[in-house]
Amino acid sequence: MALLNVSRLTRYYKLSNVQAVRHYHKVSKLFQPLSVKPKDATVTKDEAISISQKLLMDTGIISLRSNGMFALLPLGERVMMKLTKLIDKEMSCIGAQRLSLPLLTSGDLWKKTGRWESTGQELLKIEDRHGKEYVLSPTHEEAITSLMSEIYPFSFRQLPLRLYQINSKFRDEMKPRFGLLRCREFIMKDLYTFDNSVEAAHDTYQEICSAYDRIFHRLRIPFLKVTGDCGSIGGTHSHEYHYISPTGEDTLCVCDNCGNSKNAELVSSDKSDSCDKCGSHVHQVAGIEVGHTFLLGTKYSKPLKALYQNESGKPELLQMGCYGIGVSRLLAASVEVLAEDKNIKWPWEIVPFKICLIGPKKGSKEASSALWVDHLAEVMSGMPGLLDEVVVDDRDRLTIGKRVMEAKQSGYPFIIVVGKRACEMVPMFELLDCTTGKSEFLSHKMLMNWVRELP
Ligand SMILES: [Zn+2]
Repeated sequence: MALLNVSRLTRYYKLSNVQAVRHYHKVSKLFQPLSVKPKDATVTKDEAISISQKLLMDTGIISLRSNGMFALLPLGERVMMKLTKLIDKEMSCIGAQRLSLPLLTSGDLWKKTGRWESTGQELLKIEDRHGKEYVLSPTHEEAITSLMSEIYPFSFRQLPLRLYQINSKFRDEMKPRFGLLRCREFIMKDLYTFDNSVEAAHDTYQEICSAYDRIFHRLRIPFLKVTGDCGSIGGTHSHEYHYISPTGEDTLCVCDNCGNSKNAELVSSDKSDSCDKCGSHVHQVAGIEVGHTFLLGTKYSKPLKALYQNESGKPELLQMGCYGIGVSRLLAASVEVLAEDKNIKWPWEIVPFKICLIGPKKGSKEASSALWVDHLAEVMSGMPGLLDEVVVDDRDRLTIGKRVMEAKQSGYPFIIVVGKRACEMVPMFELLDCTTGKSEFLSHKMLMNWVRELP
């Protein structure tokens, strides 16, 4: 027995001791089809195109596959993974557990809550070979509440409970537009909370809102949190998180004095220019909704009979909340808000690559400096914060200028050019900081110092 344990330990030790491979990416091998432009046949003439849609398609980050449906290409997938990781981290801090529910939800459940009829044509209904009806879920209140209803007796000791997923949702938009901002298939983070009382559900609501604040703060894009419309989800209490952008489809009323903000849908037109809290002037801005929170009460637990057993052993209805972040929309909205001069600018936390290295053109006078490129790429990608974060534009038949232009368009925050001055006695490398627009020449030592100080 003891022997077995030792051999297991050795095996574990050996595995965990495997050296991390210093891996960097090469643009020549990246699947980033820059030249694939949407044909007239795929984008109808009256379809509105936004800055983010154009830039994300032009740079090979997303690809339009059919009306309102996009493929996330490898660079887009990298951004999505980082966004997901950021969200997972904050969800874990508030004790939320991730799960996955099926994309299809039984039509019967949607009939029980009344949304089968009330949702309208945005709800895509399908039938399987046995004639059973399903919805291609745009949201999962029915699915998760039904799950909870089937595990009675569910003890009060397990509350509060917070469950979320990050996966595809579907909404059959009449007019998909602006790329990932309003498409038919999208990726959403949806969190559902369960509490034993109205008060506890309120506390949960505040706690989740703080987690949302942290997520949006970490992306460092100014956002506006406004009182929202409960709409088709229902409930008693709702807030929306918005990025301010002329492309935004929501109108927000913001008080100049106290900051009280609301979705214009909640403001009657005769009171639209004065604040209902302090009476001061209210101005309007357009916003892209990136997050939404709802306090649901028993709107779903009642029809679907989702109960828990209280301290005296009696069944009681679960108090619920639901909280969404449009993750694919957030990706596009970041581009929409931050883009400058036809160049994407990513929030630092979600850049597809942190550093892009560009070497000399083949056959040019400075071609001998090419040796530096692999050396720098290897050293940098071996640093803790840069593992898998370095890309080399090795297409050496292209000029440096052309590659710098494309690296800027793709939104890489730092570009290092190994050019003419890398052939000098003391080799100098050009560092282009796309976050500030500044550039400077650094020696090898200075460059290494700079790299070590990256966040
Ligand atoms: Zn006010």
